[in-house]
Amino acid sequence: MKIWPQVSIPPVGIAFPKLVLNSTSGVTTFDGSRKAFTMYVCGITPYDATHLGHAATYLTFDLINRYLKLSGQEVDFVENITDIDDPLFERALRDNQSWEELGRSQVALFAGDMSALRVVPPKAYVAVTEAMASIILAIEKLAEDGHTYVCNGNVYFKTTAFLSQLPIELGKAIEIFAERGGDPLTEGKEHPLDPILWVAHKDGEPAWESKLGLGRPGWHVECTVIALENLIGADYLNETSDTDTNSFEIDLQGGGSDLIFPHHFMTAAIGKALTGKDFASSYVHAGMVGLDGEKMSKSKGNLVLVSNLLKNGIDPMVIRYALLTSHYAKDRMWSDEVLESAERRVEAIRSALSRNEVAPTQDVLITIAKAISNDLDTPLALDLIDSWVASTSAGVTGGSVGELSRFLDATLGLAL
Ligand code: ZN
Repeated sequence: MKIWPQVSIPPVGIAFPKLVLNSTSGVTTFDGSRKAFTMYVCGITPYDATHLGHAATYLTFDLINRYLKLSGQEVDFVENITDIDDPLFERALRDNQSWEELGRSQVALFAGDMSALRVVPPKAYVAVTEAMASIILAIEKLAEDGHTYVCNGNVYFKTTAFLSQLPIELGKAIEIFAERGGDPLTEGKEHPLDPILWVAHKDGEPAWESKLGLGRPGWHVECTVIALENLIGADYLNETSDTDTNSFEIDLQGGGSDLIFPHHFMTAAIGKALTGKDFASSYVHAGMVGLDGEKMSKSKGNLVLVSNLLKNGIDPMVIRYALLTSHYAKDRMWSDEVLESAERRVEAIRSALSRNEVAPTQDVLITIAKAISNDLDTPLALDLIDSWVASTSAGVTGGSVGELSRFLDATLGLAL
């Protein structure tokens, strides 16, 4: 898929501490020992792009991408577009629009938003429709290896062997599975949590030929295949685990915290069934963004879209700054006050950066890098900038404007 324009990361002259993340899979230190760090981030389903929750999620992985690159680590970053999925078809039907047209317009909107927010694009940005042949091959292999069964014409993945890895208790898992696209109550299934791998053709939906009949893939397997094919290589299905020294396929799978279950559990289980290896060594999840004390959701109709903020003249760097004022992993609230406070703070930084003489900057760089290395502590990083602004306003001198502005651009993506 056509990607948004490259965003350059200016070089900065300090040594970066090792990145430590409190990932869902435990505290992970990224020590740069892998040739390339492999990161897969679950992308949008193109029908409500891009609300602030999406933006907060993609900024989180942008921070990780930038930090590792600045530390000298090569990063292979892949992101998908879920352009084959139930919610997209439902929305297209509701709005009497073709799903292709809806998808295309929303993908373009998303790319524009990411570009405005200075998110460094992934090396591969892959739509499900572009990966269809590989997804079909993988599903056929799962069927050949006995990981599937057919119920009501649809092909299901057997989860029973993977349930010891469930991140939550079974009853709760079934409840959440139903809320997030699953069908636990379908009669005839072997286990309520088994997800659909291949949906038999329905009127009004696109369909592809496969050994399993005419149909289209389900959500989870799409991500497993796009991640493995683009991060491990096209022949990942022929890998034999005993000749490979890595016990995990990829280094990080990321997304919003609403993907912990079922999506990331399912992609990992399907990956293990396909290759025999564990899917990702770490899982990082960004918290949810609410509005004025309420959950932001499509059904409530209170989504704040980045494109609307931009249309209203809000500076994209203020939006980026505002999203960095909260810790990535925490659920947070968006409000006019959050935006106004960000506007004031960005204005104060710009004013300080426009002076000829500024407070010393070298130590600020080092302490901000340390804050980011500690589980992406952006609230602390922004407080450190405020302290520097206060010192500069008080007339302290000895720093370099260029050094600090390049550093803020490189690490936090704030081109001020
Ligand atoms: Zn995904």
